Amino acid sequence: MLQLNKQIFQRAAQKAVRVQPLIEKHGAQYHVMRSDGGSAIVRFVARNNTIWCECSCPAGSPLSRQLPIPCYHVAAALLTNRANLIAAVRSAWHRVRPFASLETALFEQFGTRDLTALSNDDLRNVLIALDW
Ligand SMILES: [Zn+2]
Repeated sequence: MLQLNKQIFQRAAQKAVRVQPLIEKHGAQYHVMRSDGGSAIVRFVARNNTIWCECSCPAGSPLSRQLPIPCYHVAAALLTNRANLIAAVRSAWHRVRPFASLETALFEQFGTRDLTALSNDDLRNVLIALDW
């Protein structure tokens, strides 16, 4: 299992936003479509006030003693959560355009200054536009 950590997941999240794999939620598990057509099973577990995650793909659960690598399946499952998606847009905006107003840009593009008024698809498109 891997401990969730924003820095570690940055690259995985970028790939997840680019690839946009098909995701199905089954109870506490997420089935994320892999590039080979199979599906990777992602689970999140809360333990000791920390969120841990695991993925059934070769990167997420290596057979040898190598440590698991954060994969885009976990990131994609995370980004199906609206709160995580909104947080990702805010952090991407402040990193890519630290001196520009997010609210003004939102208003010009979407007619609203409220990030939470955007659909999940629009939020993903903002991430892609920020080349996140
Ligand atoms: Zn994976």
